[in-house]
Amino acid sequence: MRFLPVFLDLQTGPVLLAGAGDLARAKLRVLAAAGARVRWYATDGHHDVSGLEPADVVRVEFAEGDPLAADLSGVIAILCAGAGDVGPAMSARARAVGVPVNVMDDLVHSTFIFPAIVDRGDVIVAVGTGGLSPVVARRVRERIEAVLPARIGDLAGFIGRWRKTIHGRIPEFPLRRRFWEHVVDGPIGALVLGGRADEAEAALKDIADASSFAGALASGKAEGRVTLVGAGPGDPDLLTIKALRALQDADIVFHDELVSPEILDRARRDASRIPVGRRVGKPGIGQDAINRLLIEAAKSGLRAVRLKGGDPLVFGRGGEEIEALRQAGVAYSVIPGITAGLGASAQFEVPLTFRHEALRITFLTAHKARDAEAVDWSVLTDAKMTVVVYMGMTAAPSVRAGLLAAGRSPQTPVGVFARVTRPDAQAAVGTLEQLPDLVEQIDGGPAILIIGDVVAHSAPWRHSNLDQVISKLLDAAE
Ligand code: SAH
Repeated sequence: MRFLPVFLDLQTGPVLLAGAGDLARAKLRVLAAAGARVRWYATDGHHDVSGLEPADVVRVEFAEGDPLAADLSGVIAILCAGAGDVGPAMSARARAVGVPVNVMDDLVHSTFIFPAIVDRGDVIVAVGTGGLSPVVARRVRERIEAVLPARIGDLAGFIGRWRKTIHGRIPEFPLRRRFWEHVVDGPIGALVLGGRADEAEAALKDIADASSFAGALASGKAEGRVTLVGAGPGDPDLLTIKALRALQDADIVFHDELVSPEILDRARRDASRIPVGRRVGKPGIGQDAINRLLIEAAKSGLRAVRLKGGDPLVFGRGGEEIEALRQAGVAYSVIPGITAGLGASAQFEVPLTFRHEALRITFLTAHKARDAEAVDWSVLTDAKMTVVVYMGMTAAPSVRAGLLAAGRSPQTPVGVFARVTRPDAQAAVGTLEQLPDLVEQIDGGPAILIIGDVVAHSAPWRHSNLDQVISKLLDAAE
């Protein structure tokens, strides 16, 4: 990180702007909107303010003379926009006296850069890419704009007005933090965001000291709870907005082996992260122990997230955890995730259903050969059924044997899709007959098998056929 985002107090002195034309006017607009006083040296000799709001113009001082000879005392920052050769020269002067300087589109001569900004009153979000790509910064800003409630700035202002009072009345920090979380996340915050500040004010007054707030907590509103959250197959952008909120709200996160570090990074920074997963071939801590951990966490008042790869209720033992939580009387909820089969189908363009070709989908698990033997393959004879097999790598020979015995054609297209939606995702496609060989081509799991005619529509299948066509053409040309 070369540029640290900080917020500049524009009340402390003028900003010097050197430059001309549209670029200079654009910067004038930004600065004036932020309340800055601007001393403008027009490098083309014309202080052309066409297109600027009169309200923006009033804080602009039209400076005459050579900006390189300007008095810099008291100047808090220097900007060069559309200033030509004056930019680098101004930068040298600014640096000599230690004033921050930005030369537009010129990282070498800048000691600070402008972020893309989300402006919601008291809430300002600055997005930077170290000057590398303003377009990427703008895209990030758009996404933030989309998820931030419009009145989030009002909420910050509301809290700001009460902060000192509450600090005095609830001196103990952990309780005070819970107080503010209770306000922000609960009905009071919702009132402010809904534009009903007066009602919010009244509701806050009701709990605005340590004993009333403790009373409100005791009435059950801030008890611990467990949220089972689906983390999706790997790509952190596939988390749902709800999953993201739960992660950012959690005090403690119990996660599977399958959950990628990029996803764990989305949890609140100070949340504890406890791995409780099993790896193939290695024992984990056991389901009963996991259940106990979840129950203890909730009973001690923590907001616990149980984070699972894919969807929590698809081969994820989420059902057992729910049962245990229910028996223990612990509050819980479930947030779905994108299951690996759906991640694979989207990434590799396998339509799981397709017109008249595939009318049914079966999700099954064949962890060990033993499981594969337990599967009633005879119900999978329907050629119009797509079969998605979880944990099926080791049992691939048994899966093939079972489906062949059930009468599926050895030519049925199959795909093995590994580490789907992750940067190192991999696919191998072929026929049912070749299934164990396809598994051999995979450089490590987790991987999912998809079996059915629809696999012939997938991107890897199309590419492999394309390869065959090309090599035939090449052979013919020789
Ligand atoms: N609850 C999870 C499944 C857990 S069982 C879900 O809904 O996806 C574990 C199995 O899921 C693995 O053996 C593998 O078959 C599959 N799986 C999980 N993540 C995967 C990924 N990123 N790519 C391919 N398969 C995956």
